[in-house]
Order: sequence, then C-alpha cells, then structure tokens
Amino acid sequence: MKSIAFLPGDGVGPEVSASAMAVLRKVTERFGIEFAVSSHPIGGAAIDATGEPLPAATLEACLAADAVFLGAVGGPRWDGAFQRPEHGLLALRKAMGVYANIRPLRIFPGLMMASPLRPELVAGVDLVIFRELTGGIYFGAKQEESGFARDECPYHADEIARIAHRAFAGARGRRGRVASVDKANVMATGRLWRRVVSAIHAAHYPDILLEHILVDAMAMHLVRRPADFDVILTENMFGDILSDEASAIAGSIGLAPSASLGDRAGGLFEPVHGSAPDIAGQDKANPIGAILSLAMLLEDGLGLPEPAARIVDAVSQTLADGARTVDLGGNWGCRRMSEAILARI
Ligand code: NAD
Repeated sequence: MKSIAFLPGDGVGPEVSASAMAVLRKVTERFGIEFAVSSHPIGGAAIDATGEPLPAATLEACLAADAVFLGAVGGPRWDGAFQRPEHGLLALRKAMGVYANIRPLRIFPGLMMASPLRPELVAGVDLVIFRELTGGIYFGAKQEESGFARDECPYHADEIARIAHRAFAGARGRRGRVASVDKANVMATGRLWRRVVSAIHAAHYPDILLEHILVDAMAMHLVRRPADFDVILTENMFGDILSDEASAIAGSIGLAPSASLGDRAGGLFEPVHGSAPDIAGQDKANPIGAILSLAMLLEDGLGLPEPAARIVDAVSQTLADGARTVDLGGNWGCRRMSEAILARI
C-alpha cells in the first residue's frame, strides 16, 4: 500500500488539505485503491507544537513516505519568530532533494473572464514552468545586520543541468519549445545558467526549440503573449515570481498546483499559493490548487494516472457548470466547492 504524508500547515493550509484528503478518500471509494495516510505538523503549527518549523518526526515521516502533500505555511503570527515557518518548507525541499518544481498553467472552460487579461490573449494558454527549487539565492549564505544585509546566489553547473534535462524532456512530451529565463546581462549565475542550458540543448535535445529570455522581458511577455510559451525553465527566485504571475493569468492563484520532484520516486506536492492569512478560517479559500496538486501526486508521485485524470475532469466539469469561489468572482466557500468536485469524481 502506498503511503502519503499530509502536512496541512498554517492559515488556509488545513482547509485546502482537508479538501485534498476528502478527494483521496473518494479515490479509494471509486477506484478501490487504499492509501496509508499520516498527518504531521510543519511551519507555524510545528513551531507552536515543538518550537521547530520542521520537527525531526515530520522530516522522518516525509522521507519514509511514498509521497508528501503540503497545504501552506506561514503567517503574520510567526513574523517575529526566531525560526520562520517558511524555513521548515525550504529545509524539507532540500532534505527531500526535490530540485524540480513543476507548475502547469491551464485555462479552465468558462474561466476566461476571470483572467485579468483580455480573452483573446488568454485563449490557448497552455504552459508549464520548470523552476529550480533547491539552489540559488534562497539557499545561499545570508548576513543580516542593523544597516546592512546580504543574500548570496550560488549555483553549480550540475544543479542547472539536472533541472534543464527535466525541462527539455518535459518539452518533448508537449509542443517541443523551451524558453530559458535568466539575468545573464548582469548576473554571473545568469551567464552560467545560459552556458549550461545551451550546452545541454546542443548535446541532447537538438529537436527542441530553445530561446533565452531575460527575466524582466519574460515578466512582460507573460502578460502580453502568454499563449506563445510551452515550457519555461528558470532558477529558483525567478520561478517563484513568474509562477505567481502566471497563475493570476489563469484567473486566481487559488487554482494553481505544483509538483516538486527529485531523482528518487515520489515527491512533494503543494498548491502554489501561500497560507492566505487574510481569508484563513473563513471557508473562503479555493481548494482547486490543492486538489489538482493531489492529482499530480497520484500521477507523478505514485504512478496512478487514471484517478488523476478523473480528478482533473471533475474540477473542469465543476467550473464549467459555473461553480465560483470568492477569488473567481463568486460566493462559494471552500467546503461547497470541494463537495461539488467530489460529487463529479
Ligand atoms: P498568499 O499566496 O498566501 O496570498 C496572496 C493572495 O492570494 C491573498 O490575497 C490570498 O487571499 C489569495 N489567495 C491565496 N490562496 C488562495 C486560495 N486558495 N483561494 C483564494 N485566494 C487565495 O501569499 P502572501 O499573502 O504573500 O503570503 C502569506 C503567507 O504565506 C506568508 O507567510 C508567506 O511567506 C507564505 N507563503 C507560503 C507558501 C507555501 O507554503 N508554499 C507560498 C507562498 C507564501
């Protein structure tokens, strides 16, 4: 039996995780597949319980599980904490070795009007961001004094190579195009990024169309011509920022799922959004990002494409039938949206 570690986390994390868990129970009911599920604290909830954002028992459970699901971490309550909740998530990603964060962006039927962009710009958008997840500025040395601060942005060629291979291989199963995003005009890591990506492309993926784009230009292209992109390959911080921008194009960050994969089977699956403290505890969160992350867990983490496809179809059908949470301009709560999706699985 496959095991899944559930880490609900903070803010809306427990609300959307409950929706994902309900979907998992439905998968067991409809497909007869049993899962061994365990729940563990992370982030602010773990700081409150143990003083640590990633307790040893949580890490141990995640490393032992076949796949890990995470809701969200963080919130203003822990802003002054010695260890921030977000450190728990960064440490977990590093410990699991999940260097490839994959964030697909699709436009669901009927949601064209929820996008801040004009419908003719959004029509046909179908892209996936491959973000390097365990290197770069988020993991470099830090210095923080009263009038001075520094964040180092280190990258080794092999860290760039392994995410580049993932992105090119991903493009082979799609429309065969990769846009590699860097800041090679001013950053040494950007120039290394470009050299490594170009070399891997030339040696292994000549069939793929590769273009290099500076991150500032990419931020603009994403809102002017998002349908032109297929696979976007980028480093950790740029991927963090561009994927939030991309998720808004689809209508709401509450819709966006992600998978974080490494070299071993399984992985870490979480919605793109954070803990949304402004709406936490009010049954206002959109559970779709979490539910689609569970679908990615089943397909990419556990090799179960059939239930995953059923979940995606159910989400699509629910939205096509007009269901709208607050972020999509409606008044449905998290629970009502989850129940509507469950009924269609
Ligand atoms: P956020 O993603 O939590 O929220 C941004 C905006 O999107 C808010 O207006 C929020 O209400 C809305 N939103 C987010 N998720 C939604 C959902 N499911 N349904 C409807 N609306 C939703 O980002 P933030 O406000 O910048 O950060 C809040 C906290 O979350 C911070 O502590 C931050 O560090 C943390 N964070 C955690 C993660 C993670 O756990 N992976 C990711 C990003 C931010």
